[in-house]
Amino acid sequence: MAYKETIPVSNHRIGENPEADLALLLADCRANLPKPDENLISKAFHFCVKVHEKDRRASGEPYYVHLLEVARIVAREIPLDDVSVAAALLHDIVEDHANYSIKDIRAEFGQTIATIVDGVTKITDISKSKEIKQAESYLKLVLSLVKDVRVILLKVADRLHNMRTLDHLLPHQQARIARETLDIFAPFAHRFGLGNIKWELEDLAFKFLNREQYDSIKKQLNSSRKDRELYIQKFISPILQKLQSYSLKVEISGRPKHIHSIYHKMISREKTIEDIYDLFAIRIILDTEDKNDCFIVYGLVSEIYTPVPERFKDYISIPKKNGYQSLHTTVIGEDGKRVEVQIRTKNMHEIAEKGVAAHFKYKAETLNDESAIFGNKDLEEWANNMRDVLENSGHEAIPELLESFKITLYQNEIHIFTPKGELRNLPLGAMPLDFAFAIHSQVGNHCIGAKVNGKIVPLDYKLENGDSVEILTSKNQNPNRDWERLVITHKAKAHIRRYLNEEKRKRQQEGKEIWEKKVKKNDLHINEDGLEKVLQSLKFENKGEFYYALGIGTANIEGVFDLIREKMKPGAPINEVATAEISFESILSTSRGNTTGVYVIGNAQNTAALLYNYAKCCNPVPGDQIVGVVTTGSGIKVHRKACKNIKELQNKIHARLMELEWSASSQGDFIAAIRITGDDRSGMLNEITNAVVSYNNTSIRSVNIHAMESVFEGIVTVFVKNTEHLSRIFDKLKKIKGIKSIERFEG
Ligand code: MN
Repeated sequence: MAYKETIPVSNHRIGENPEADLALLLADCRANLPKPDENLISKAFHFCVKVHEKDRRASGEPYYVHLLEVARIVAREIPLDDVSVAAALLHDIVEDHANYSIKDIRAEFGQTIATIVDGVTKITDISKSKEIKQAESYLKLVLSLVKDVRVILLKVADRLHNMRTLDHLLPHQQARIARETLDIFAPFAHRFGLGNIKWELEDLAFKFLNREQYDSIKKQLNSSRKDRELYIQKFISPILQKLQSYSLKVEISGRPKHIHSIYHKMISREKTIEDIYDLFAIRIILDTEDKNDCFIVYGLVSEIYTPVPERFKDYISIPKKNGYQSLHTTVIGEDGKRVEVQIRTKNMHEIAEKGVAAHFKYKAETLNDESAIFGNKDLEEWANNMRDVLENSGHEAIPELLESFKITLYQNEIHIFTPKGELRNLPLGAMPLDFAFAIHSQVGNHCIGAKVNGKIVPLDYKLENGDSVEILTSKNQNPNRDWERLVITHKAKAHIRRYLNEEKRKRQQEGKEIWEKKVKKNDLHINEDGLEKVLQSLKFENKGEFYYALGIGTANIEGVFDLIREKMKPGAPINEVATAEISFESILSTSRGNTTGVYVIGNAQNTAALLYNYAKCCNPVPGDQIVGVVTTGSGIKVHRKACKNIKELQNKIHARLMELEWSASSQGDFIAAIRITGDDRSGMLNEITNAVVSYNNTSIRSVNIHAMESVFEGIVTVFVKNTEHLSRIFDKLKKIKGIKSIERFEG
């Protein structure tokens, strides 16, 4: 281990004498940390011993032993700073003791320590409630939740100690924790460059997951140790001699072989254990700041032993993502055995073993600007900066530096769990629909709502980091124009647009076929230009819009057809027809009432509207009393008679209003808004949504809820066939406990 071993203060067993344990911790801190605040650490230690007085670990030891050991890992193996050591001692208090809160920690130890403890608690909560499988997504989630890198390093230290003492748990607990360690925490340690801890976590996890293989590899490693050590001794002695003449200070070590990595190599390279053992490995660490010395040493080694060219890797010129730098080469030693040689400077070695933590040991002028370190978009960039800082810095640490250590990575992303515990990254501000389309276009297309953390939410609900989202779908549901405005991700927008365009194209095609059949059957001759012009005079923007209107049944084909034929009579040239402004009356007089939607009453011929649509202010539904407003550009707007806007209009331009009726054949989905008030109790929203859906699988378009004190008011917009359908939904809603009023809502 690279940390400085401290001489035990007394020969006591840890856990028997708290004061002696504290002395041990303080000695660790003195040996490894810059000017640690011993009062702070002592205070935190006494506090945690007191709070956890009655708690025991699975091993039977007093609970504070765990906290002490985590604090010692933080002091020696990662080494961070005194604040982190204090936070380590306090990290399980809020989690385990209901009568202590972050507030208490803040009151006793200040904001920084409270924030770190809070962060650790948050991370623990997430990994407790979900089964997490993707390390990288989890890392991003954690980075977006916590702003202080010490939270993550402390969590790694916590896991390391739990793994070291995993023997005391039950086998199924061991397996779960070991699996999680391998999947999440080892990659985590790797990402932060904590090389040693990564290896240890992997080996420990491997031990519990695959005991047989672990024992067998370990046994063979032990039995061949003597031979290997001898071989290495012989191998390095000529290298050492050469290096002496160059006055380069070096440290050469036979690299420890990690059991898990041996196993991994056996599997991935399909080799036996013997083959893997044959790969000897040494590491040369140079006491120099000059990376060129590494290349000089590489030259010396190559003079003595023949290198295998394809095995040379220069991670000095092109470092790994986590900041790792080193030269790797493989040479042929005595008896033709291959020996891996790694060459690096002390600084590089420090980063390789301690990663981000190595950073804390150095002072850097450039660090006054925190953005120089953590204003970056990616860890990779951060690692580059860290290297720069290390290369251009002195060796005196300043703990205040840590105060400004903030992580601003991934703050614009949120991370959402699927019901299966997988993570999806979405931009800040994303809604359930965005999430639905992120899963699959079909899930998005049929989305009627979502359950977030078990509760039904409206489609325009803003998702929060760490939410668990389950998408509710109905095969009757399809995207509409409103969705396009609602979603914020490109993916969702693109899918919605594609669907709407495809739908429109289909309806146009249907309309076109209807029209062509009609024209053919009646032997009408009109050229494209002529048709286009007639249609324009009827306020259709182009033929496409006309076909579309025919396709969805809002244009009366008989009306248009008769009008065109009339104008085509001899003596009525096309041009004249086209340019003539066709009055609304003339449309009415040539239309007949067999359309599929609404028709006009009060006209002798019972004529139908040529082009109509439904007013958004009152959303009429078949069965409602309706009235039409003649508009230029979009034909007739159909309102409910009870609509406020109509009441205003009636006094002004009576002539533009016309009595309408629903045609018996009118069908399709109509939007209706329902206003509901009642008691704000948990589960209310869920029951409302279920009640709506329970009648004929009614589609919900949106839900908006405002809760004030104990009362809530909600507007639920649904798709219904007619007023009968709507009143059935009312009946269902009335049965819900705590509902005060239900009424049709006008915007
Ligand atoms: Mn813990």
